[in-house]
Amino acid sequence: MPGDPDQGPGTRQVEGAAWSAVRPTPVPAPRMLAWSAEMAERLGLDAAFMDGPLAAAVLAGNRLLDGMAPFAANYGGHQFGHWAGQLGDGRAIGLGEVLDAAGERWELQLKGAGPTPYSRSADGRAVLRSSIREFLCSEAMHHLGVPTTRALSLVATGETVVRDMFYDGHPEAEPGAIVCRVAPSFLRFGNFELPSARGDQALLRQLVDFCIRRDFAHLSERHRSGAGEALYGDWFGEVCERTAAMVADWMRVGFVHGVMNTDNMSILGLTIDYGPYGWIDDYDPDWTPNTTDATHRRYRFGQQPQVAYWNLGRLAGALAPLFDGVEALQDGLRRYVDAFNRAERGNTAAKLGLEACRDDDIALMQSLRELLKAGEIDMTLFFRGLPGVDLSAPSLDALDAAFYDADKREAVAPALLQWLAAYAKRVDEDPLPDEHRCALMKATNPRYVLRNYLAQQAIDRAHQGDIAGVTELLEVMRRPYDEQPGREAFAARRPDWARDRAGCSML
Ligand code: AMP
Ligand code: MG
Ligand code: MG
Repeated sequence: MPGDPDQGPGTRQVEGAAWSAVRPTPVPAPRMLAWSAEMAERLGLDAAFMDGPLAAAVLAGNRLLDGMAPFAANYGGHQFGHWAGQLGDGRAIGLGEVLDAAGERWELQLKGAGPTPYSRSADGRAVLRSSIREFLCSEAMHHLGVPTTRALSLVATGETVVRDMFYDGHPEAEPGAIVCRVAPSFLRFGNFELPSARGDQALLRQLVDFCIRRDFAHLSERHRSGAGEALYGDWFGEVCERTAAMVADWMRVGFVHGVMNTDNMSILGLTIDYGPYGWIDDYDPDWTPNTTDATHRRYRFGQQPQVAYWNLGRLAGALAPLFDGVEALQDGLRRYVDAFNRAERGNTAAKLGLEACRDDDIALMQSLRELLKAGEIDMTLFFRGLPGVDLSAPSLDALDAAFYDADKREAVAPALLQWLAAYAKRVDEDPLPDEHRCALMKATNPRYVLRNYLAQQAIDRAHQGDIAGVTELLEVMRRPYDEQPGREAFAARRPDWARDRAGCSML
């Protein structure tokens, strides 16, 4: 079972255990840089605490509060399609669970808190730039309505960390930081895959039972009379459905995860592990923010629904020893397909402002996607501009801001005007009053997303010692569907200078 926390980490294969006790390694000068007002409130932490020295010390891993029992989880994973064996929390350390005022349970986890038994040759630390990216995007995704792990705080450590920057290849000392992530559970597909791959059925079953008991209690209720296969099958099916809903939301808002390895897939269907993620600017289903994946583009935007399905297939394989046959697992995978298609139809209707999705709306949306790609059109700006088009006499004026390239705009204009005419006809046939149609579109298509260059600007300022760029961006992302007068610059399309840096890797 778990090792002695006082023994120090020491990288190793950990057999027969789902976690190891390990203490965060103290840092020289913890300093609170930013924190999430909503998350702090949820946990009952006030501003005086969050801005005080105790919060900085605890959220940097320098102090443990009574009842905290720090640990690193053991998991494996399929990385880029191949089984990678034991991975585990190499730089994340769980502090324990908190119950909020509503009785909901939250796990707190420090990312970048020092080495663990799973660190392999790495240092267990995180750099400021990747921590800013994780902090901001966790909260931005939450406010966009996408299931995600949350972020409570961003703390500077006062020490430097050396990383290879992929875009210039030179190791460089950078400031270090720690994000406190928050979620009901950080269990990943890989937590189940590892004991299964090792033939440790007892541990696999114990972990599944634990997960269901703690995170899927409603299923235990439903299956009170008989645990076992029916319960496990229902649980797997729900994991599939939650994953489908998450990925459909990614497609709706233009989010690209970038590293959908099975160790980065949450069993709760939460977006987890914000590494080289990115946002679609001009609509391009082939785009990936992950420069290490530039050749195969396994984790490109348009491929995410298929990859999630493949990952669920690996999870099904890992769970197979708990089942007599494969039917229940196949049923679960079908629930993924059905749930994804349902969500896609819902998103198609909502993005276009229609009361419901008819079969021919699928083709309407598909032809729009082709035009967005051919015309190098900004996805966010296009959908946000669409309710402003006068459908009685369609023109591209209201969509002006969405074009990146004048020649491509000209080339695609006739087909796009034709599409708008077809859309106008469709809207005419739809029962939703105009006002409701616009409101639905504005509640579905965000005005503000965490464009890569915006995060990069906030990072550049933070490197100069000015954290205001991070707090300001966080503030904007708290209300991504609202018009925010005075903040139009945050909704602007990607500037030309940011084109090549759009995909810099942020490990
Ligand atoms: P990722 O690709 O970020 O999901 O990471 C894959 C694995 O590498 C996980 O087991 C991480 O915990 C581990 N890892 C990534 N960065 C570090 C680091 N700086 N120190 C220790 N482990 C790390
Ligand atoms: Mg990971
Ligand atoms: Mg990562």
